[in-house]
Amino acid sequence: MMLVDSHCHLNFPELAGRVDDALALMRENGVTHALCVSVTLEAFPEVRALAERYPHIYGSVGVHPDYDQAPAVSADRLVALADHPKIVAIGETGLDYYRIKEDCEWQRERFRTHIRAARRCGKPLIIHTRSAAEDTLRIMREERAGEAGGVMHCFTESWDVARGAMELGFYISFSGIVTFKNAKDLREVARRVPLERMLIETDSPFLAPVPFRGKTNEPGLVKYVAEEIGRLQGRPVEEVAAVTSANFFKLFKLNNAGTHA
Ligand SMILES: [Zn+2]
Ligand SMILES: [Zn+2]
Repeated sequence: MMLVDSHCHLNFPELAGRVDDALALMRENGVTHALCVSVTLEAFPEVRALAERYPHIYGSVGVHPDYDQAPAVSADRLVALADHPKIVAIGETGLDYYRIKEDCEWQRERFRTHIRAARRCGKPLIIHTRSAAEDTLRIMREERAGEAGGVMHCFTESWDVARGAMELGFYISFSGIVTFKNAKDLREVARRVPLERMLIETDSPFLAPVPFRGKTNEPGLVKYVAEEIGRLQGRPVEEVAAVTSANFFKLFKLNNAGTHA
């Protein structure tokens, strides 16, 4: 079985001190590759270093919408930093009106900048959206995000939002939240999203799946997300693993050996 964690934060303090343990659990659980996602440009060198050190770890470059203190970022700078064989995506970017309630025009501008950078460099987007689905989809359409493609990561929105993103050619990525007791509505969305449009992720160190809920999450635990998707869709976990891994390599323009196609 071959699984891929399409979104983790291996450079965060909870995991950075024990990367070797995390890589060992990946091996044990059949997780062959992981994408380590940037949240600030300040920490980007850590992400790039992990991607350079480990052949099966990739990186992305971007500034997360929760980081209101982060200095303004230009499309030129994102494009320049993305010009690296192991940096496969722009993000995470998007909108989050849950954490930051005051005027979020700066978030929308930052999001537009990331979409423009992704279109320019031809690398897909990793999009985070929380309590802001309508504006997220509107800006994706206005900025023609479909030309870059990408993934709606850690998806927790409705079927309509999933459909809107898929109409733009985006993939939908599910995290350990699908295993949570109170996530009935999300499980229904995960049951309906075609496997051909789906990725799976941990978003580790956060959101450890059941039966590890509340503990530190890590990429190896993406196996439990795959198992839940299999149960929901009535498919063997091996099929979920194979298709979501193939989707990952296709979206991020990699061949299965982990090098550029
Ligand atoms: Zn996120
Ligand atoms: Zn994340």
